[in-house]
Amino acid sequence: MNARKGFTLAGVMGWPVSHSRSPRLHGHWIAELGLQGTYVPLPVPPGRVGEAVRGLRALGFAGCNVTIPHKVAVMEHLDEIDPMARQIGAVNTIVVTEDGRLVGRNTDGEGWLRGLRDAQPGWRAEAGPAVVLGAGGAARAVTAALAAAGAPAIRIVNRTREKADALAASLGGVATGHGWAEREALLDGAALLVNTTSQGMKGQPPLDIALERLPRAAVVSDVVYTPLETPLLAAARARGNPTSDGLGMLLNQARPAFAAWFGVEPEVTAELRALMAEGL
Ligand code: NAP
Repeated sequence: MNARKGFTLAGVMGWPVSHSRSPRLHGHWIAELGLQGTYVPLPVPPGRVGEAVRGLRALGFAGCNVTIPHKVAVMEHLDEIDPMARQIGAVNTIVVTEDGRLVGRNTDGEGWLRGLRDAQPGWRAEAGPAVVLGAGGAARAVTAALAAAGAPAIRIVNRTREKADALAASLGGVATGHGWAEREALLDGAALLVNTTSQGMKGQPPLDIALERLPRAAVVSDVVYTPLETPLLAAARARGNPTSDGLGMLLNQARPAFAAWFGVEPEVTAELRALMAEGL
């Protein structure tokens, strides 16, 4: 249903969207692979997302990414939502199929997992319990990916306890919800610690957690990528824990989306990482 045969149109729908690094990322792949197409920012104010999504078909778009604040609002305007996006409860990628159907996907969880595996190839989901700090959108993606990958236990810790409990319940028996005061005790025996809160981001205080109880073999992952090395990752590295930064998630969540629109699987190279890390 791409009206512009031979030229693929894609973009990122958000509000605001001018700060998004996605046009640089997808633009790099389009040029590198010598493809005919473009990836543009699509600023859509809240309340107009239905119109905008329906317009994708008429405009001949192959699809688009969806970012803040539209990831949940967009869902009611789609023809189909894949099981992972439904589990996460949000859509970050829309694909317009050949027959014009609008399909919602969420690639954040698989992107996070792939970034983790790229950074720490020896890590295994089955190795032991995972502690996930936060229960917002990023936590929903990370925990869904962990559950699908076979983590034996997922300990979700959140400032607002009820949100941790609700997220744990949505994942079935593999996950448990905990209050913020428990965060250090829960590190005992963990094989993975993931920060999905906004703490540690530029302009925010560092995450308030002591790592003494975390086994030194446990991998520490942060979804925050500004700065690239958060205070949590610096503290983990200093005591010898293997780490994985948030840029890996940002780059890898884009791969399946690009592949769905352009029909080619792009690579995350060291050159691309350096390009995308500029100014972080
Ligand atoms: P969100 O849905 O708003 O969730 C924010 C989470 O942070 C909630 O669990 C919240 O707890 C917690 N939090 C906020 N302030 C806190 C504090 N002072 N102490 C403890 N916990 C606190 O946000 P999100 O979409 O999940 O995004 C979270 C972070 O992930 C952001 O920094 C975002 O940039 C990053 N992210 C990165 C990628 C990537 O590709 N690398 C992708 C998505 C998101 P309450 O529930 O108690 O409020």
